[in-house]
Amino acid sequence: MASVQSVLDQLSYGLYIVSSCSDGRCNGQISNAVMQVTAFPPRIAVSINKTELTHEFIEKSGLLSVSILAQTAPMSLIGLFGYQSGRNINKFADTSHIVSPRGCPIAIEHCVGLIEGRVTGKMDAQTHTVFLADVVDAKAIGGVPMTYAYYYKELKGKAHKNAPTYSGATSAPAAAAAPSAPATPPTKVTTPPSSSPSASYVCDVCRYIYDPAKGDPENGVPAGTPFSSLPDDWVCPICGVGKDQFSAMK
Ligand code: FE
Repeated sequence: MASVQSVLDQLSYGLYIVSSCSDGRCNGQISNAVMQVTAFPPRIAVSINKTELTHEFIEKSGLLSVSILAQTAPMSLIGLFGYQSGRNINKFADTSHIVSPRGCPIAIEHCVGLIEGRVTGKMDAQTHTVFLADVVDAKAIGGVPMTYAYYYKELKGKAHKNAPTYSGATSAPAAAAAPSAPATPPTKVTTPPSSSPSASYVCDVCRYIYDPAKGDPENGVPAGTPFSSLPDDWVCPICGVGKDQFSAMK
């Protein structure tokens, strides 16, 4: 008998940047849980973890935006909005975006469409809040939207622990194995130069930096271990991607 999660993993999703604002501050985060719920009026539902800063901003402002990511979206953009906290950095500082007349930030880089919504209802879903929002503005940009399956299968992405679909499993959702998107090799493969054992490497997904001088003691990697000597099954301690998702730092 299949596990409940393995069945739920057959559900299909897209990948989005959900953003909001409060008191002049902007923040956004990656979400795969966005869907249209009615056409008349045009209304969407968005599930956001209650611990997220974006959740706090949506609660305060009653506004949210959804940037529908394109298949061309790089892992660096997904990592910035998916694994960095707006409590530590301004994610929009170096990200192309617009601000709506209502003051809501909307990321526009590598997006196929933009939506702005005004919250008209919400449902407490224990760890998450499901916000209902009436669409007040929408703009088509064009391109091929990123699916969650593509993110997993082609970009080797992982679910953040705050994602509605995160179950703690390390394997990709079964749905991700479906040939739903044209195969494109991951853009990033690194072969650590043997001449620089002290070189630090940065995770392309979450921006975690592996410093050989510090190692990764929490995961059994002692200080002084060059990146090239890390075990093949070592993964980023923040987001869980493999070594092939790291780049040498200059
Ligand atoms: Fe990472």
